[in-house]
Amino acid sequence: MKAMVLTSCCDMAHTPEPLRPMELPQPVPGPGELLVRVEVCGVCHTELDEIEGRTPPPRFPVIPGHQVVGRVAATGPGAHLFAPGDAVGIAWIFQACGSCDFCRSGRENLCPAFVATGRDVNGGYAEYVTVPEAFAHALPPGLKAAAVAPMLCAGAIGYRSLQLSGLMDGQDLGLTGFGASAHLVLPMVRHRFPASRVFVFARSAAQRAFALELGASWAGPTEAEAPVQLHAVIDTTPAWTPVVEALKNLQPGGRLVINAIGKQEADKAALLGLDYPRDLWREKQIRSVANVTRADVREFLALAAAAGIRPEVKEFPLAEANRALQELRRGQGRGAKVLRIGAQGRGSC
Ligand SMILES: [Zn+2]
Ligand SMILES: [Zn+2]
Repeated sequence: MKAMVLTSCCDMAHTPEPLRPMELPQPVPGPGELLVRVEVCGVCHTELDEIEGRTPPPRFPVIPGHQVVGRVAATGPGAHLFAPGDAVGIAWIFQACGSCDFCRSGRENLCPAFVATGRDVNGGYAEYVTVPEAFAHALPPGLKAAAVAPMLCAGAIGYRSLQLSGLMDGQDLGLTGFGASAHLVLPMVRHRFPASRVFVFARSAAQRAFALELGASWAGPTEAEAPVQLHAVIDTTPAWTPVVEALKNLQPGGRLVINAIGKQEADKAALLGLDYPRDLWREKQIRSVANVTRADVREFLALAAAAGIRPEVKEFPLAEANRALQELRRGQGRGAKVLRIGAQGRGSC
């Protein structure tokens, strides 16, 4: 099968094409697993973190990709939840132990044995992938594969971030960074909290214009002062400056939710600009979001289907995965990027 493969971590500024096209044997589903023929795989910022070593894969070579939409091609021994031909999605959570305190309390995202698709095991930048059937997701009918793929991470982690923000209807939310996840959070807020206003901070004027198009009440640059003090802010950037700026814009008791698996070192000195009475005092809270649970994925898919939430998607062929990653790294384009891998022209689940 064709795959785009990462063989070592590198700095994408010096290695513009970190993934290599390879012909690999088709994987064989083990007990309780599905073999999935991939139709579309989303491109996520976490791939940049894997490639550049902020969340390095434990071994190489590895096939990245954790927003996988495809059809069951075969079932392994004992697998019985899906049949060949069924449309399924695979998300970042590939496996958790099921027996630790975290797993038993509904926080399998924090399981010490958490296995991540496309980092710890091969993912969806390939024609085929295997997954434990208990961690595969049935897809809502009527959605196109390219629309579902970004929901599996960008949407699900956005859903989790919004839950952790504690936002209630009528409260004002800030979004700093306006990429694939934030552009799904905005319509989700408008659906769930119709009386709430959303304020968007983004470096690029194109992203700010996109946010206003999607219904944001206001959009400004990262360092701007919001016209009101915010109840919560969700940060989806890879940088530190937006963290400091977001804390300034929070009202007393407000909460900043950081949705990032790592932060780049480049602007870490921005943290020295933190002013305790202005930015942290008065019970402001900072919380990070880590991984997703299966429930996050399933609840977001159901919500998106019911509320008509659809991502804006740009498609690339599998062989152009490096170009998609470079565009993501440079913040080019708007919405989500996906790789089209199989079933070109049909492509609906
Ligand atoms: Zn992701
Ligand atoms: Zn566990």
